[in-house]
Amino acid sequence: MQNNQPDRTDRLAQMQPSDIREIHNLAQRIIAEDPSRRLIPLHFGESDMGTPGFIIEAACKALHDGAVFYENNSGRPDLKEVLVRFYDRQYGLSLTPDHFVISCGGTQAILLTMLALVAPGDRVINITPNWPNFTEAARIAGAEVDEMSLRFDEAQSMFVLDFDRIERAITSTAAVRMLIVNSPSNPTGWVITPEEQRRLYELCRSHEIYLVFDEIYDRIVYTEQPFPTALGLEDSQDGLVIINGFSKTYCMTGWRLGYLITNPSRARQMGQMQEFVVSHAPSMAQVAAITALEEGELFVQRSVRRYRVLRDMVVSRLTELPGAVVARTDGSFYCFFRVAGAERSVPFCKRLLTETGVVLAPGSAFGAGGEGWLRLCFANESALLQEALDQLEHFVQSVL
Ligand code: PMP
Repeated sequence: MQNNQPDRTDRLAQMQPSDIREIHNLAQRIIAEDPSRRLIPLHFGESDMGTPGFIIEAACKALHDGAVFYENNSGRPDLKEVLVRFYDRQYGLSLTPDHFVISCGGTQAILLTMLALVAPGDRVINITPNWPNFTEAARIAGAEVDEMSLRFDEAQSMFVLDFDRIERAITSTAAVRMLIVNSPSNPTGWVITPEEQRRLYELCRSHEIYLVFDEIYDRIVYTEQPFPTALGLEDSQDGLVIINGFSKTYCMTGWRLGYLITNPSRARQMGQMQEFVVSHAPSMAQVAAITALEEGELFVQRSVRRYRVLRDMVVSRLTELPGAVVARTDGSFYCFFRVAGAERSVPFCKRLLTETGVVLAPGSAFGAGGEGWLRLCFANESALLQEALDQLEHFVQSVL
């Protein structure tokens, strides 16, 4: 059948293919041409561990027990009850099940948030370097995105917020509707302080704009204090939306399960919206997530201890490389670093991959402030990381 209607090419054409995907596609081409070629993939954002057995068993049991039917749009009530108890135990907060919308991963919670809260003509400020989906999800909803990069403080070797710039951007036009912050950060490892959270919260509240905090790495921190969820800020959490999920903490990336937290009336409407987007998150994954929350604490602590050792090893080796600048990784499982010869990160990653088999994510994928940086996921076996670092070291020396 011929269709002479033009596609919505404006929306489709605006979508930026991810620079990480470009590197990944090259890796796949290399393997297709030579299946015996050994690659060391450290470019993806997931742990090598795989979901722990007790969660898998809970899902199998759930399937046998009948978790195979349609559920509530906004998620199973028993999962929401368990989340309420978790936020009480972990953060001392009194939430209710009505604050939660269960989603297909944090990814879908982000898109739902954008579809629900922004529209064409709105501007969204995204604090970058940040996971690319925020910018693209806001664009899909028709908003314009202003990427505002964190400032890199060379003396402390860490990323910091530039409040004055953010405030100027918020006050420069009435069109700004939303500020997006991701911390513990993918890719920078930056962990926001409670004071910074409060300042952002007050800024957004006084200008009546939404504040979206992605806290998906909240349990993976190496600071002395536990991560301070932004939900701890007083008041009704009016303009606040928290994004979280099970992928990172419980190694459940393939299960596609996440959630958002916001005020109950908005959560109810966003839950209704799920009907038309995904209907609901997978039933058996929701049951398994109950087990993850109730029985997963030891697993979480053990994983973070392991990641900490790997982080220390990777940071100390990266620091030795020519021209190296390594951002302080207080949370997440990524090292974000600069190195001689990587000023343009995509060509650097392509050459590194072709010549050594080591796959890194180029910093340019993470928006403003990311170019010139590289991201390495260290949630992998120590011996594999050592091998990759040996290769990287030889490569950097050879391109000098
Ligand atoms: N937020 C951030 C910052 C992430 O890094 C990711 C995954 N890379 C997500 C959200 C989404 O994860 P998922 O959809 O698997 O829950």
